[in-house]
Amino acid sequence: MSLWLLLPAGLLLLLGAATCHRAARYSADVPCPSACAALAASTTGPVTCDVERYAFGWGNRICEGILPLCVLRPAGAEDVAAAVRTAREHDLPLSVRSGGHSYTCNSVKPGSLHVDLRSLDAVTVHPAAGGRAGTELTTGAGNNMRQLLDALPAGLMIVHGQCPTVGAGGLFLHGGYHTSLTLKYGRGNDTVTAMEVVTANGLGLGLGLGLG
Ligand SMILES: Cc1cc2nc3c(=O)[nH]c(=O)nc-3n(C[C@H](O)[C@H](O)[C@H](O)COP(=O)(O)OP(=O)(O)OC[C@H]3O[C@@H](n4cnc5c(N)ncnc54)[C@H](O)[C@@H]3O)c2cc1C
Repeated sequence: MSLWLLLPAGLLLLLGAATCHRAARYSADVPCPSACAALAASTTGPVTCDVERYAFGWGNRICEGILPLCVLRPAGAEDVAAAVRTAREHDLPLSVRSGGHSYTCNSVKPGSLHVDLRSLDAVTVHPAAGGRAGTELTTGAGNNMRQLLDALPAGLMIVHGQCPTVGAGGLFLHGGYHTSLTLKYGRGNDTVTAMEVVTANGLGLGLGLGLG
């Protein structure tokens, strides 16, 4: 079986309001700093400023005390690009998380504009057709390994890691070691054939990696 994994929205990816707002369960009235209000005005996905009550759910619990300035749950790549541009314009650090399993808490920086990619959780399986050699899977950066495995039809597999809650973003960018699957198919990141990225200057790009 050959596995072709497409990883769109590789870097950061949905919807929202023109004002900075909190999820309904947050009761505290936390005003947004100006950079976060500017971000909310330019994105569709919601921006949360009540970061002390935000459910980060880190894989590594020592990351829990590290708080960004606010959190964007993007609706798509355009929101991610807006976050990159806003961070540059306000001279703020940007931090990005997918599954939140960084051993070293690299996915959150104090005082940053934080992009929580768990909102980008679309997953589609494309049967081999149209000249493609194998089945392909397209995933948003925010899915974890358990969600991808659940989406696969019987008999197909991806090169995943050992832990079901590791995210697609981190794993397929710089990981994906599996004790037995890697011996035969390489690492997870070896199976990526294309990705949608947002560059540091806030532009969206589609990248074909030529592995197919
Ligand atoms: C308990 C545990 C078990 C693990 N087991 C395995 C294993 O079996 N095999 C294996 O290969 N690895 C394993 N890992 C390592 C894991 O693959 C890496 O830590 C991976 O980077 C985690 O991805 P994440 O999206 O969950 O992490 P995150 O913390 O969300 O991100 C990790 C890093 O990648 C960056 N990043 C994440 N998503 C994006 C994105 N879309 N665009 C740009 N940058 C992004 C973050 O900013 C951060 O620097 C394990 C880690 C843990 C904690």
